[in-house]
Amino acid sequence: MTIFEKIINGEIPCYKIYEDEKTFAFLDINPETTGHTLVVPKTPVDKLYDLKDEDYLALFTTVKKVMQRMETVFGSRALLKVVGTDVPHAHVHVTHLDPSWEYGKSLTLSPEEMQSIADRLKF
Ligand code: AMP
Repeated sequence: MTIFEKIINGEIPCYKIYEDEKTFAFLDINPETTGHTLVVPKTPVDKLYDLKDEDYLALFTTVKKVMQRMETVFGSRALLKVVGTDVPHAHVHVTHLDPSWEYGKSLTLSPEEMQSIADRLKF
């Protein structure tokens, strides 16, 4: 079982942003920007193209909503990234054009700051 399945099942805590029947979104614990969110399908496949079309569409429908929410909350353009070399459970990174962003660096935020960001982003 991947760490993201454990998060979806509630076995590992997370800063949750959104959930529906097919998808789940939560803050990345090593945020590249404020509000760095991971959107994952509930179906545990490794790569995005392993998803059935309906699950792929559901994932990107949630990605679209998270991007809109990110732009509303932070007032800057949302960005997408797909890597997947660390966790073999398909996921899309949603960040935004944050002036504090530095290549390869992650922000150090306290649990209170992470929770406060999650509270602002959640929908
Ligand atoms: P990648 O597989 O390269 O796209 O990276 C996986 C991402 O998952 C990294 O940005 C990690 O910081 C993030 N990550 C790993 N474990 C957790 C966790 N328990 N909660 C939130 N994010 C996580």
